[in-house]
Amino acid sequence: MGLRVVTARRAFVLLFKSDAEVIDVDGEIFLTFDFTAWVDRSRARLYAPVDHDLFVRTPRLQVLVPKVIRLLEYDRLPRREVKFNRRNIIARDEYRCQYCGKRFSASHLSIDHIIPKSRGGKSIWTNVATACNPCNTRKGGRLPWEASMHLLRSPQMPRRNPTLTDKLRNRRYEMWNYFLRDGELAIDG
Ligand SMILES: [Zn+2]
Repeated sequence: MGLRVVTARRAFVLLFKSDAEVIDVDGEIFLTFDFTAWVDRSRARLYAPVDHDLFVRTPRLQVLVPKVIRLLEYDRLPRREVKFNRRNIIARDEYRCQYCGKRFSASHLSIDHIIPKSRGGKSIWTNVATACNPCNTRKGGRLPWEASMHLLRSPQMPRRNPTLTDKLRNRRYEMWNYFLRDGELAIDG
């Protein structure tokens, strides 16, 4: 899995240095552009904008913010693991209490250690689950089966950043869905 989100500024630096090319969609066809070709493309699009087009304005140019770029030398980029933190755990579990199955806003959810910390449970992806406050209180310092509680699914380390997965559901970013192969970067415009 190599899709990553970068800022528009970073994308332009990569393009300008010829470290990356733009991938853009034209009907059913995917086209690639180097920086110069992309500037030309931007000029054309200025007069015929497509949904969700964003431009950056410089004194001389208006350049379309690409939605996807492809790194030309992917090897140089280290693979990043999904950060283990509260936000990503809740996103992995889709804002759903993993015991009662109800959805809540993040502020009403907590992180349950399936094997409690007091009993040697570690803070790792496979030992944490999102829980609502009543379920968390009910479980207390027990194992799920001791509290007659069941997890909706066994927790795994996410392969892809879960907040990115959230974004893929948003129409503005729908083009990203085409590019889940290695070495491609989606732009957070
Ligand atoms: Zn619950």
